[in-house]
Amino acid sequence: MHTKTIKELSVLLHAKKISATELAQLFLQRIKSSDLNAFLHVDDALTLQQAAAADQRLASGDATVLTGIPIAHKDIFVTRGWRSTAGSKMLENYTSPFDATVVENFNQAGMVTLGKLNCDEFAMGSSNENSYFGAVKNPWDKTAIPGGSSGGSAAAIAARLAPASTATDTGGSIRQPASLCGVTGIKPTYGRVSRFGMIAFASSLDQGGPIAKSAEDCGLLLNAMAGFDERDSTSIERDKEDFTRDLNLSLQGLKIGIPREYFGAGLSADVEQAVRAALAEYEKLGATLVDISLPKTELSIPTYYVIAPAEASSNLSRFDGVRYGFRAKDYTDLSDMYCKTRAQGFGDEVKRRILVGAYVLSHGYYDAYYLQAQKIRRLIAQDFQQAFTQCDVIMGPVAPTVAWNLGDKADDPIANYLADIFTLSTSLAGLPGMSIPCGFGQGEKNAKRPVGLQIIGNYFAEAKLLNVAHQYQQATDWHLRQPAE
Ligand code: GLN
Repeated sequence: MHTKTIKELSVLLHAKKISATELAQLFLQRIKSSDLNAFLHVDDALTLQQAAAADQRLASGDATVLTGIPIAHKDIFVTRGWRSTAGSKMLENYTSPFDATVVENFNQAGMVTLGKLNCDEFAMGSSNENSYFGAVKNPWDKTAIPGGSSGGSAAAIAARLAPASTATDTGGSIRQPASLCGVTGIKPTYGRVSRFGMIAFASSLDQGGPIAKSAEDCGLLLNAMAGFDERDSTSIERDKEDFTRDLNLSLQGLKIGIPREYFGAGLSADVEQAVRAALAEYEKLGATLVDISLPKTELSIPTYYVIAPAEASSNLSRFDGVRYGFRAKDYTDLSDMYCKTRAQGFGDEVKRRILVGAYVLSHGYYDAYYLQAQKIRRLIAQDFQQAFTQCDVIMGPVAPTVAWNLGDKADDPIANYLADIFTLSTSLAGLPGMSIPCGFGQGEKNAKRPVGLQIIGNYFAEAKLLNVAHQYQQATDWHLRQPAE
């Protein structure tokens, strides 16, 4: 049962072959016996209450396709009932008085919350090792990182601890962990999914999206997740759409742009091999490969690591020991309380970003760094528009290597930043992007570690991306592979 897709589970729920309560119990049990550290907070009673309500809805006939399907939320989305920590000591005991819009949307669809998922502190990281609550293990190889910052969201799907999860992507945090854990994830166009109740990291980049086993499942989830929200000032006002409407369109004549810069020296051979094999499969499905260039790719790292910390330093100023969560115990006056609270409440990576952010925004440096980065950001977005005159979608690797070993880059922030090279520019441009499993590379001692294929589309092309991903998943079975239990 735990290996089934949302689509399959929905059929069984509607046919009364299984109840929402039984499903919730099954997954709660799996979560309890897992040693991956993917979950930060589970509350059986709350979950079973939602499951009972879902069963009632199923019985009364006003159920949606998602009613009764269990889902777990990245601990960046605030939830009433379950704690919301953002992976930080600062919010260790924080419970929100309201639900994030995304959580509310899934509740309204009748989904059943399984709990909250581990992530890098305030979503800053690429390995989940920055979580105050400890790293998540990669289900394919427990000595490997799961990717980040949504490591818990990806690991939970790979280990079949939940059929659906939410995640957020600021510079790759949906796509990269999905890639390293061998699951399917989509980061929508910036503004598609409400940021209300999503604990802020870098507001001009943060975007929520789903992770699941298949593109079809991601489409079903996105249908409930996306939509205009007046409580988010950058939410996009567009009509609701059915993201699954084009799943079955043929790919005959599809033009796939292959960016030269994504296949350069930094790409490891095993990842390149898996990605090239996927591209060959697309050719069999009727697509043609077009050589394109995204010349500013290299600049995406310094650009992102100026803009994201700048916004983070501003967003995180609210954690002052007064308004939310943690407060240091001993202090002499107000200013000492602020200093000690922030010194003790934030981890190293968060502090590093606050320092960099405050620096690049300070008088005299603003023009040299922040403004300059904003200009390059625009050029990066223009590169993509130029590319989309030649192709329908862009494909390449998600990350330059398979998952690395836990601990290997833990003390080397720059090495972590460099691993974001293929995901950052999509985020800076605000474009939608996906990761789908396309094979395996080699970890140490020949352990298999998953490889993801990245698919990037133009603004609002989510339905197209899902179509392109779904057709591949109809022809191959990488997305159905699962780690040994
Ligand atoms: N790895 C990137 C960072 O550390 C992206 C994180 C994210 O997308 N939330 O900022």
